Amino acid sequence: MGKAIEVKQLKKSFGELKAVNGIDFYVEQGALFAFLGPNGAGKSTTIDMLTTYLQRDKGEVRVNGYELGREDDRIRGSIGIVFQDSLLDHALTVEENLYVRGGFYNLSRSELRAAVEKAARIAKVNDFIKRPYGKLSGGQRRRADIARALIHTPKILFLDEPTTGLDPQTRKSVWETIRELQQEQGMTIFLTTHYMEEAAQADYITVMDHGEIIARGTPYELKERYAQDSLKIVANDEAALREALHAAAVPYKQEDGRFHIAIGSTVEALPIIDICRSHIAGLEIISGTMDDVFIQLTGAGVRGE
Ligand code: ADP
Ligand code: MG
Repeated sequence: MGKAIEVKQLKKSFGELKAVNGIDFYVEQGALFAFLGPNGAGKSTTIDMLTTYLQRDKGEVRVNGYELGREDDRIRGSIGIVFQDSLLDHALTVEENLYVRGGFYNLSRSELRAAVEKAARIAKVNDFIKRPYGKLSGGQRRRADIARALIHTPKILFLDEPTTGLDPQTRKSVWETIRELQQEQGMTIFLTTHYMEEAAQADYITVMDHGEIIARGTPYELKERYAQDSLKIVANDEAALREALHAAAVPYKQEDGRFHIAIGSTVEALPIIDICRSHIAGLEIISGTMDDVFIQLTGAGVRGE
């Protein structure tokens, strides 16, 4: 697999504030790449630079093989972008917006119609395509924004918090559309999100805070490194269970009538269960989650919810 995006020592300051402070990363072609971090971490600033909309101070960037700063037109022609704030005209219908957008790409009439139809189908906007953008619900707007970004069949789609502010059901359906873009269209997806259950489905995650990259890996790797698995036991004889755990030198906490035992990985529960087997009334093995990873790394609750 080639690299869709390569970034070396990318920097951007706003006055004294180092919004992006020398970051390095790459994105594999065809991957769903999630960029995480608390508010103000520098995610949007990074996206704005990669997509040519904000001048960088320093750093080397290649997008689809094109060099940022020298081949910006080619970069723009090969990417689609869904910004946090929509760029569509509220007074025009979704379809009119798509035709206006498509008009930038030097297409013939029939090519333009085909491009609009394809983008509308993939982003699933046909049910409300004749309605003014300003009259749409949040989820419908997001879909229209995605359709706009797809008009010229980009190789990479950038989405800055595409699901923020949507109700859970709508969020899920927009998220499914994003997954389909990757899996069925083979598009590289670069997105930022506050939602850890979305990040958990990414192929690769990069976590940013205070303008720097503080962790990276697959969701599995990050959970292994930063989240704690645990074994929870309800005892049929608490005194006997305590004794068995003491004898085996297994540390535990007792809370809400349950014994909580921290384990390095879920399979480490097995020998402990063996030792306590006859004193157990019920048990649960809980894997660490991406929420744990985020809190561990940034010391923050998942903000923006
Ligand atoms: P994120 O998208 O991770 O929430 P941003 O990239 O938007 O973070 O912002 C990073 C930091 O840069 C924040 O402290 C923000 O206030 C600041 N910032 C962003 N854009 C500007 C700007 N145009 N002028 C001044 N400061 C900015
Ligand atoms: Mg942002």
